[in-house]
Parts: sequence; structure tokens; C-alpha cells
Amino acid sequence: MKHVYALAERDARCGDLAAARDDYLASLDADDGLAVLLVPDEAVVAAAAGRRTRPACARCGARLPRKRRRCSRCGLHA
Ligand SMILES: [Zn+2]
Repeated sequence: MKHVYALAERDARCGDLAAARDDYLASLDADDGLAVLLVPDEAVVAAAAGRRTRPACARCGARLPRKRRRCSRCGLHA
């Protein structure tokens, strides 16, 4: 499942699922790469849709907790 969310995050950032998959695959070893190839597009699209309902950091795209106004990944203040 972590692959689905990682792909959804990249998809949201670059706006293209195929490019997101290539980008993600390039960062993985063979075992994880194979797992990513087996993730169906629909699962990524569904995860990306769910992700959009939550606030995200404007700079790095990390999901933000609803009450916290500071990104835990890059430190940007919302
Ligand atoms: Zn951030």
C-alpha cells in the first residue's frame, strides 16, 4: 500500500501518472520496482482522489494534519 500512496503523491505533483510511475521506479530497487509495476492505475487514481480531500503543503505536497499549520516535512508555514 505504501507504493500506492507514494505514486498518488507523485501523480498529484507532476500531473501525469505514467511519468509519476517512471519517476518512482527510478528511485527503487528491483523488488520494490516489481511491486510498483503490479499496482493498478485505478488504485493510484483512487488514492490520489482521497488525498485531495486533505490539505497539502503548497511547497512539497506533504499531507498536513488539519489542525497543524506547519509542514512537518519542509517546515513551510501554511
Ligand atoms: Zn512542505
